Amino acid sequence: MSELVTLTIDGVEIKAEPGTSVLRAALENGIYIPHLCDHPDVSSVGICRVCIIEIEGRRPTVSCKTPVEEGMVVTTSNEELEKTRKINLELLVLNHDYNCQSCAKNSQCKLQELTRYIGLDEERIKAMREPELPHEIDDSNPYYLRDLNKCVLCGICVRTCEEIQGDGCIDFAFRGIKTKISVLGDKPIAESTCVTCGECVTRCPVGALVPRREMEPTYEVETICPFCGCGCAIAVGARGGKLVSSRAVPGSPASGGTLCVKGRFGLSFVNSPERLTKPLIRKDGELVEASWEEAISYVAQKLGQYKGDQFAAIASAKCTTEDNYVMQKFTRAVMETNNIDHCARL
Ligand code: SF4
Ligand code: SF4
Ligand code: SF4
Ligand code: SF4
Repeated sequence: MSELVTLTIDGVEIKAEPGTSVLRAALENGIYIPHLCDHPDVSSVGICRVCIIEIEGRRPTVSCKTPVEEGMVVTTSNEELEKTRKINLELLVLNHDYNCQSCAKNSQCKLQELTRYIGLDEERIKAMREPELPHEIDDSNPYYLRDLNKCVLCGICVRTCEEIQGDGCIDFAFRGIKTKISVLGDKPIAESTCVTCGECVTRCPVGALVPRREMEPTYEVETICPFCGCGCAIAVGARGGKLVSSRAVPGSPASGGTLCVKGRFGLSFVNSPERLTKPLIRKDGELVEASWEEAISYVAQKLGQYKGDQFAAIASAKCTTEDNYVMQKFTRAVMETNNIDHCARL
């Protein structure tokens, strides 16, 4: 481990790993610096300019892009910094659709936090605001909504898509006041290469990217995604006896805290009234409910009538590795065929 760097922020001496940004070092030591475009999971770009600081002997700069240095003396707040911070934030929210009461992000929104902390000059913003909201809501994706009228151009979604998902289907487009996050050809997101992993949705700090969810969960339970052998950890949310949400568990060794479309958005089948909860046996052409004992005896008796390539098995990723080992052993050793495959490959 390399030697820690000692610096002073707002008169408090702290220590930080070399290479840490002043912003992260401050936050890790309980010193708040307002910030919007920085996220610990992706690279820092310093575009919102809200985390501006002063360093003794230098011009004001952004703390997210400034690595800590030995003996550095940092000031996070004074009259000049607060004035600049306020103007920088106002420029980002000139055309923001402030409709918090009906916004899915209400009370968990980074912009609300910053607005409360920094304070905005609403009259000045109103004077510069465009008369109409500039963007139509993109509801082309079945699992999440894009409302660019609430976008603050932090670019976290762009970096998430590129650096975490490796897809790169979204980027900044157009210039000046017309700048927006777009896909190739400025089409709806559903017509892009977006794979609906939802990684950008979970990291968007405001209500611009939100899951299409009927209800918020009242409690969550940690478990393992049942869809494939990767075994990503998930926290499923429930409300009123229904499964209503699923999210990645940060730090999960199997997933690195990420999920694919299935683990994040594909679990609503749990609530389907069409799910089979009891075995069915066809009798006189009709499927009728049976007990598990009856069903297992019936299958065992039927299996005795087949051998070799008359038989094939599809195993499930929802089972354990041991279960799947037994399945292939049974197929090969008992049923005498290599007709065995696995749903995770389908
Ligand atoms: S994004 Fe935040 S500030 Fe904007 S309407 Fe939603 S909750 Fe309010
Ligand atoms: S959902 Fe995933 S693939 Fe689609 S834009 Fe977001 S990060 Fe990229
Ligand atoms: S959509 Fe969200 S994450 Fe992307 S730039 Fe806008 S505010 Fe940032
Ligand atoms: S289906 Fe997706 S989220 Fe679920 S375990 Fe596999 S990779 Fe992970």
